Amino acid sequence: MKQITSALISVFYKDGLEPIVRLLHEQHVTLYSTGGTQSFIEQLGIPVTAVEDLTGYPSIFGGRVKTLHPAVMGGILYRRDNAEDLAQAERHNIPPIDLVVVDLYPFEETVASGASDDDVIEKIDIGGISLIRAAAKNYNDILIVSSRSQYTDVLTLLTDRKGAPELADRRRYAKEAFAVTSHYDTAIRTYFESDLAEDTSSSADASMGNLTNFKTLPGNHLRYGENPHQQATFYGDLEAMFEKLHGKELSYNNLVDVDACVSLIDEFPSDASSPAAFAIIKHTNACGIATAPTGKEAYLNALACDPVSAFGGVLITNVPVDRETAEELNKLFMEILIAPDYSPEALDVLKSKKNRILLRRNPVALPTIMFKTILNGVLEQDKDNQTETADQFKTVTQKAPTGSELLALEFALKVCKHTKSNTIVLAKEGRLLASGVGQTSRVDALRQAIEKAGTFGFDLNGAVMASDAFFPFPDCVEIAAQAGVTAVVQPGGSVRDQDSIDTCNQYGVAMVTTGVRHFKH
Ligand code: 5GP
Repeated sequence: MKQITSALISVFYKDGLEPIVRLLHEQHVTLYSTGGTQSFIEQLGIPVTAVEDLTGYPSIFGGRVKTLHPAVMGGILYRRDNAEDLAQAERHNIPPIDLVVVDLYPFEETVASGASDDDVIEKIDIGGISLIRAAAKNYNDILIVSSRSQYTDVLTLLTDRKGAPELADRRRYAKEAFAVTSHYDTAIRTYFESDLAEDTSSSADASMGNLTNFKTLPGNHLRYGENPHQQATFYGDLEAMFEKLHGKELSYNNLVDVDACVSLIDEFPSDASSPAAFAIIKHTNACGIATAPTGKEAYLNALACDPVSAFGGVLITNVPVDRETAEELNKLFMEILIAPDYSPEALDVLKSKKNRILLRRNPVALPTIMFKTILNGVLEQDKDNQTETADQFKTVTQKAPTGSELLALEFALKVCKHTKSNTIVLAKEGRLLASGVGQTSRVDALRQAIEKAGTFGFDLNGAVMASDAFFPFPDCVEIAAQAGVTAVVQPGGSVRDQDSIDTCNQYGVAMVTTGVRHFKH
């Protein structure tokens, strides 16, 4: 047990510091501090010694050199159990510093704010980093608090241990300190690497197709990740992509669903000759999607597909939202609505619910690649940006699809491509009837879809079916035909394709193949 007798406090953000300073004062700890932090402590009416009085040096070069001095570094680094060190400390009149509390210059925040290069460079903390590293190295004698996020924890520690933390505590804080310094230096390195990105590629390419330097993009700290115990950051420019017209901050899961929404709706052209499309997404899968002459009809048909799952969904449309549609939408509890635009009356209606997020989407080009960390590395792949249309379908059965079946098959295939594998999508022209999502077998996906369609009162006679991958056995087409499906689209390519084709012929079902698989995991 080593009692803390003195502390050096040098923090950029002063919030949250007060209780710590008060506790240290109560525990009779001598306080040393740098300019701004010193003023803050003095304001609390607590005695504090300026670090300048310790070093005999003023803060010089605009604060670049404040604590970089043997009296400070020595007070942190000398070994308390080493006779020679103790003698030297005494000879050079270096008092001990037992606790160091630092909150570094906000480098990443400064970069994210779009500050000039000069401002960013000035926010490279030198003294603070040195204090942290020195104190962490000498954790045998020193407790190092290296970030604001530890304040609550350290308050409890100092209270519980009555101002005398144990070696294991000090080592734990040292480990966290090196995590802070290495993260900080990595951020600086990444900043300098962005020079390289600018040199080697056009700026559009750097932010769009080539995301390999994604950490140079602005980083948005999210409240948490997929679950509250996971930390998360979004790297990218959300403000360029969306104008947030209403509602709270987007969460990690919101962003993932918004991404799924955008990918899906982009399958449906928004030109004047195309119908309106509306999609309702839950956990990245469409639980409802439809196209119709008006946005309102498209929404109502999408909702009818599965009004139970739609609760709390993320919605997107490819047409501006008018008042009539907004009034229908207003009846649904939804997390987010994304549209190319809103009429002022529609906005009035939709803003009536406080937490609902309303986004206006800007036409911004999106990356063409995607990443995923796996094992001890990263997978990179092209996005699945290919969609097959009726002219690319190859009829493999005696019966060919009718014109309206072809349209329904195209629609079903688009939805299927954006639904988690294994999936089966059942649709009629311009509307999803039901889907089976993320199942471990294709036949399970089909059974789920048929059951769901029944639950929400859809007649599957004349429905079409899309499958993200080939049918390994003829069981799926058989069950589908018996349920009323009359046309099927699938990639083909199974060694048993002919079995499925024969079964379709037996039931008078039309089947087309695309030759392209659309797994989505
Ligand atoms: P204050 O507001 O107390 O004047 O400054 C606190 C900030 O200064 C902290 O973020 C700390 O990391 C940083 N700091 C402490 N010593 C030095 C130093 O010698 N040089 C530089 N550049 N920053 C320092």
